[in-house]
Amino acid sequence: MENVVIVGTGPAGLTAAIYTARANLNPLVIEGFQPGGQLITTADIENYPGFPEGISGPELMDLCRRQAERFGARFKSGEVVSACLTCLPHRLTLGDGETIEAKTIIISTGASAQYLGLESEQKLIGRGVSGCATCDGAFYRDVPVAVVGGGDTALEEALFLTHFASKVTVIHRRDQFRASKIMADRLLAHPKIEVIWDSVIEEVLDIAKNEVTGIKLRNIKTGEISELAVSGLFVAIGHKPNTKVFTGQLDMDHAGYLITRNTCTNIDGVFAAGDVQDSIYRQAVTAAGSGCMAARETERFLEGMK
Ligand code: NDP
Repeated sequence: MENVVIVGTGPAGLTAAIYTARANLNPLVIEGFQPGGQLITTADIENYPGFPEGISGPELMDLCRRQAERFGARFKSGEVVSACLTCLPHRLTLGDGETIEAKTIIISTGASAQYLGLESEQKLIGRGVSGCATCDGAFYRDVPVAVVGGGDTALEEALFLTHFASKVTVIHRRDQFRASKIMADRLLAHPKIEVIWDSVIEEVLDIAKNEVTGIKLRNIKTGEISELAVSGLFVAIGHKPNTKVFTGQLDMDHAGYLITRNTCTNIDGVFAAGDVQDSIYRQAVTAAGSGCMAARETERFLEGMK
């Protein structure tokens, strides 16, 4: 039986691995379908402390992984397809049928940014299409950008982007924002922001440059097609926490985020860290911080079991 199994290898999972490995707990880390998590699709990270020149997402995750391995963390690829968290010991089943038993589990399966699903959008992720303005906004200085979405995230990202971009156009599929009124009022009053209502993106354009040069829009009320020249498209239509496999066992909010208190879930010995339990901050550094917290809580829990 394992002392601790960590599910997920973004900054939260890898930090939990470093801490539990250094505490001699010999952690087993399960790498899911996207080792390294969301940072794998982030070209440059400029806001992770300790890297004054910035660092690429894959490089940062590789360094964290090597750091965890140095202290003895073991890695196993596979996806958790079912879990019995109320069982003692806790039980996880992987896609190949293997069952792993553990005294404690740290869930750090992250959240996935939702994308529109257009072929042209998928092709240009990391080349002008981004799911995170805080991460990538600073690369769009003095150029026009667009944000798609009408919730608080989209409006917050649009306001943030005004610090860099020459102009920010918000594309929303309805004629009313879902976001809070205070955010909507602030956005509508901003001189650098324009809103295109009742419109959806039909295609992200790259005019053979292999980087975003514009977007093709369709007004859903009139059917009119138009083009808008932008250098960046920020997709902010929501995130989906990767918690499906734990449904019915762990407490979640209406959107599926795990509800935690100091990284403890409603089941003893099961902890959660990173974006899977954080719909607000969603930063690599906050995820890493909560990974450390979960590791310390795990250590304390195992100590109490003795
Ligand atoms: P939301 O679900 O609130 O909003 C998603 C937005 O994207 C909606 O406007 C929706 O349109 C639009 N959308 C969804 N799918 C598509 C699609 N396929 N094409 C075009 N548009 C689409 O997600 P958020 O990430 O904005 O917010 C999540 C939660 O976090 C909310 O509760 C929010 O209040 C909270 N939050 C709070 C913040 C704060 O308080 N500072 C900051 C950020 C988030 P439609 O409206 O038509 O459904």
